[in-house]
Parts: sequence; C-alpha cells; structure tokens
Amino acid sequence: MVKKNNSHQSQGGNVVQMFECCPVDTCGKKAVRSAFCEKHFVWFKKGLVNRKGEKPKDFDKKHQIYLRHNQSVA
Ligand SMILES: [Zn+2]
Repeated sequence: MVKKNNSHQSQGGNVVQMFECCPVDTCGKKAVRSAFCEKHFVWFKKGLVNRKGEKPKDFDKKHQIYLRHNQSVA
C-alpha cells in the first residue's frame, strides 16, 4: 500500500513565490529579494522582520542596534 501524500506539483521548475510588493507595512516597494525590497531584506536577515514582514515585539530595540551598526559602517 503506497499512500500518495506528497504532491509535487510545483516541481520541475523554479519554485518562485511571486510577491509584487515588499510585505513590510507602509513600505510597498517592489520586492527584489525573497519577497522583500533591498532594505527590508537586510531587516529580515537581521531579524527585524519575519518572513511575513511583521515586526517582533522588541523591534525598536533591534532597530536601534541595527541603525547603530549601519552608522558605523557608513
Ligand atoms: Zn520594503
């Protein structure tokens, strides 16, 4: 008995999720990297937003650390 639970319908090509806009609120820029715009892709990598573009509870704290790092780099 073989149960066919796996439906690989999206195989055979690039599985690309098409997001028109960056999901971070009030952004609305065109998504260029993993559904985020350039800036918010960095945010996502730094943990400032999650995959859905939602901010964590300690966003302010993380954001300040992020800005501080950014300043020292730039
Ligand atoms: Zn964005």
